[in-house]
Amino acid sequence: MQIIGADQRESEKTPSPSAGIVTELRKWRKSQDSDKVIGLVPTMGALHEGHLSLIRQARRECDVVALTIFVNPTQFAPGEDLDSYPRTLDTDLQLAQKEGVDLVWLGNSRDLYPTGFATRVEVPALSDRLCGKSRPHHFGGVCLIVLKLFQLFQPTKAFFGEKDLQQVTIIERMVADLHVETEIVRCPLVREDDGLALSSRNVRLTPEDRQRALSLSKALFAIEASWRGGERKVQTLVEGAFEALDPGMELEYLELVDRNDLSPIEGEEATGDVAVCVAARAGDVRLIDNITLEFLS
Ligand code: AMP
Repeated sequence: MQIIGADQRESEKTPSPSAGIVTELRKWRKSQDSDKVIGLVPTMGALHEGHLSLIRQARRECDVVALTIFVNPTQFAPGEDLDSYPRTLDTDLQLAQKEGVDLVWLGNSRDLYPTGFATRVEVPALSDRLCGKSRPHHFGGVCLIVLKLFQLFQPTKAFFGEKDLQQVTIIERMVADLHVETEIVRCPLVREDDGLALSSRNVRLTPEDRQRALSLSKALFAIEASWRGGERKVQTLVEGAFEALDPGMELEYLELVDRNDLSPIEGEEATGDVAVCVAARAGDVRLIDNITLEFLS
């Protein structure tokens, strides 16, 4: 397994003089045979089974698998958890090796956002809703880094989890709008056995908060159960979810949306491709989750 950027890590005060991660990556990309299917799995590290499921799918579908690890500062607002975001690089590299990753590329702000950097990439219509209401700059930062990665890697396919449903929806829009050739592959959300959606942030939950956080998936499963039972009234579905939510959770939103564009379900009855999206805090950890109802009707 090749690693680019190990000598340029954010934590290294005086990185050794190397060509830099952009130049190194360009060299790597040029060295790849043009007929190879190149798969990209972008992450912020602190890898868990959710990330590994993306890597495995990439391994199944591609000749070459590249994993990126970079806690991208432009998608965090001041006061958010950029500094406390979990970082477990040594374990991540071991896991990547075990999963048969070909290249791990470690990002750093010095090379990616040098002095004078000024460009923005926005998909406003899809970014303003759900998470975008409380994190107005978040998806602009995501689009920026993902488009940079697509420029540099020119991957045949890129793998994203439906855990971040709004993110993958926005990226698909951006790719279509900007004629990016990369195929976006959606991978299913992976949960713990007890239902909690896997997230790098889960390690920051206290045992009590973890217990409370479980009620997020319980709320979604409550909606799923009444949907399966034939209930379609939005208000009734949502009320059932609220009952399942632990009162110690600080709810940001719980919404039934059209799964295709994440617009709110307007009428009294939910029809079509419906997703339920939720965001809430357990202690100081912000968590998101979602479930799809479309195939259950
Ligand atoms: P992150 O490191 O949190 O930015 O996530 C990197 C990629 O892994 C994104 O495409 C996420 O949607 C995906 N991912 C994170 N958690 C999960 C999960 N529980 N199930 C599936 N994919 C996930």
